[in-house]
Amino acid sequence: MTVTDYFLPGSLSEALDLLGAHGPSLMVMAGGTVAMPLVNDGISLPGKVMGLRHAGLDDLREEGGGLYIGATVTLTRLLRQRAVPMLSEAARSTASWSVRNMATVGGNLFTPPPGGDVAVALLALDASVTLAGPAGTRVVPLGAFHTGFMTNVLQDGELLTGLRVPAVAGDTAYLKFGRKAANTPSVVTVAVRVARRGDTVTDARIALGAAGPHPLRAGAAERALVGSTLGPEVIEAVAAVAAEESQPFSDGVASEWYRRRMVRLFVTRALERIRQGGEGR
Ligand SMILES: Cc1cc2nc3c(=O)[nH]c(=O)nc-3n(C[C@H](O)[C@H](O)[C@H](O)COP(=O)(O)OP(=O)(O)OC[C@H]3O[C@@H](n4cnc5c(N)ncnc54)[C@H](O)[C@@H]3O)c2cc1C
Repeated sequence: MTVTDYFLPGSLSEALDLLGAHGPSLMVMAGGTVAMPLVNDGISLPGKVMGLRHAGLDDLREEGGGLYIGATVTLTRLLRQRAVPMLSEAARSTASWSVRNMATVGGNLFTPPPGGDVAVALLALDASVTLAGPAGTRVVPLGAFHTGFMTNVLQDGELLTGLRVPAVAGDTAYLKFGRKAANTPSVVTVAVRVARRGDTVTDARIALGAAGPHPLRAGAAERALVGSTLGPEVIEAVAAVAAEESQPFSDGVASEWYRRRMVRLFVTRALERIRQGGEGR
């Protein structure tokens, strides 16, 4: 164990001051379900750790038809909210009760592949993230937050303070496929949102997890869907486009080959579910 100092700031400004004073050598920890095993296994050897539990970032409230989610809101609390059913379903599909009681929504954005199952739903819901640092606060669309494998736009001295889910239109479907029924890493995760006028699709989001270096949108598949009628042939064609543009990888959970096929199958299933009524927003 290398940790000699543990800080537990009581406010965001105190947390930012600590980060400014100690720099990148200060490990930020929210629920600790990703960070703590790295320390315990000696993969990460921080001298100083800052916990965010008491920093006042745990507000969860309905806002203008949407939802504000503080960065340290736990997945258990997200599961229990009723305003956005897809987020409840995404939280339920993540880990186990004991992990969800600790794990935070903010931390889910930093989870290495194949993780980040909640982030996939947030992406389909057009969520944005709020980042605070010495230069002030900025808002970034979640789709622009991740930049590559374990990289993102967060700068030194900044913290993620919360997420906003706007009031978006459409029906949704969320499907996570793992090797077990529950408490399992993702082979592929699919979150879909489709808005229609009459039979015609007017807007679409198809977000994929475990199918790239970070949660990503299948933009070509979305464009193929907009303007069409959600029927079996369209669904099949759109799912094929999503599989083609996904960027799956091989790991101990599944091979790249298998993941690409599962993207196609689970995008098909998600769109089929929406065709048959969806799950609400
Ligand atoms: C047994 C087990 C099963 C799991 N199963 C799943 C699963 O099925 N699906 C899934 O998606 N995940 C899974 N996870 C991963 C993890 O539990 C979740 O992704 C969780 O949401 C991570 O949140 P956390 O608060 O614990 O992150 P932490 O471990 O606290 O943080 C991880 C890192 O994120 C950064 N960070 C966190 N919060 C902030 C912030 N506010 N500002 C700046 N940086 C920040 C820090 O660099 C930190 O070191 C599992 C973990 C375990 C241990």
